[in-house]
Amino acid sequence: MSTRASGENEQRGNLVVFSAPSGTGKTTLARRLVASVPRLRVSVSYTTRPRRRDEQDGIDYHFVDRDTFAAMAGDDEFLEWAEIYGHLYGTGRQATEEILAGGSDLLLVIDVQGASWVRKRAPRATFIFLLPPDYQALLQRLRRRGTESSGTEAERLLVARDEIRAWKEYDFLIVNDDLETSLRAAKVVILADRQRRSRMESVAERVVATFPGAGAVSSDSPRSPE
Ligand code: 5GP
Repeated sequence: MSTRASGENEQRGNLVVFSAPSGTGKTTLARRLVASVPRLRVSVSYTTRPRRRDEQDGIDYHFVDRDTFAAMAGDDEFLEWAEIYGHLYGTGRQATEEILAGGSDLLLVIDVQGASWVRKRAPRATFIFLLPPDYQALLQRLRRRGTESSGTEAERLLVARDEIRAWKEYDFLIVNDDLETSLRAAKVVILADRQRRSRMESVAERVVATFPGAGAVSSDSPRSPE
């Protein structure tokens, strides 16, 4: 990902796509991540799904009606969008751009369909997939969650079975057996990705430019081995 205009001291942020079958614990992990990694924000998606009791508009989602969503999609205002359990979900392009330009990384907690769109549009994003320890663990979590989720239990299990096959398309895999261990693994991935040469080029160039005679090839330049 490129950096801002040279001379500015700030790097452009990175997109981090985070997917998992429902019941894997991705929302909890995403919340813990943004609370503990500096310069990491979580994207607030648009959705046509009804608001749940414990959710706040503008914080958990931007809750909109289908017409509003369709108009936004028509105006190409989404980086990606998908239909899940009969509801529409999308990532707003403008907020995404502002956050990245401001130098923060942005976590997109989205389904596998949305992730494959982001892969086409932002191939340099980081893709993390969270797996449950096994099927039984997923089943138990889904049952505990009960009616708060969209779709029936059978529907969610079917979707989970399909979604889990997408793990092969992601760069990093985390098995969410223990939350603290998963949190550490996700942090390491996000922090290490910031140090990639492609993201650090302008920083390295600025450092090199402080050296006397930088840019000029002098007789002091190291020779390549013959
Ligand atoms: P829920 O209705 O339980 O909050 O979310 C259902 C599914 O929609 C989850 O897998 C969640 O990650 C996904 N989702 C939430 N926001 C978006 C979005 O903006 N785009 C896509 N593609 N999926 C989303």
